Amino acid sequence: MFFGIKKEQIFCSALDLQYLCRLKFKIMDAREKKQLLLDSRYLRMTQIWAENSYCRRRQVGALLVKDKMIISDGYNGTPAGFENVCEEDADHSKPYVLHAEANAITKVARSNNSSDGATLYVTTSPCMECSKLIIQAGIRRVVFGEYYRMHDGVDLLCRAGIEVVHLWMRNGEYEVVEITGDNSESHYQEVEKCIAASK
Ligand SMILES: [Zn+2]
Repeated sequence: MFFGIKKEQIFCSALDLQYLCRLKFKIMDAREKKQLLLDSRYLRMTQIWAENSYCRRRQVGALLVKDKMIISDGYNGTPAGFENVCEEDADHSKPYVLHAEANAITKVARSNNSSDGATLYVTTSPCMECSKLIIQAGIRRVVFGEYYRMHDGVDLLCRAGIEVVHLWMRNGEYEVVEITGDNSESHYQEVEKCIAASK
């Protein structure tokens, strides 16, 4: 079963979990379930695509989808022509490493496709720099699987009116969870309680 709450109640709002628990997780209608299935499959594909990255600290994959067609893809890595090493040392990436989203957006710029109105699927939530590119590329929807260590990028996307969806893997299935920027273990335990209470 897919559970979630209404879009307008989820996206880009700083709802606290007490409020969410009161709202309960609404059972999705057929259209919303279908969308979640599609989103889940594309997001799984980004995870596979991330395996192309030779970065050691974090592998990120991204897909751009428009009208149910994948129009671009990307993973984090150095620009074309540079050696395939992302890290300066154990804790730092080289400053010229391109993020997966930036690679997907710049790849589509070289093609005959347009990112205007597209959905971006990405394994990790976009950083501030990528979020700026996402807004300017006309992308209307962003679906991600886990939070980056900072969530200012997600905040910016929300401010720009872009639909941001956080899918959380639970018991082998994705659940839509609210956008809070909180990626702590205790947050997910609370979400789990809310979902359990709604069943
Ligand atoms: Zn980025």
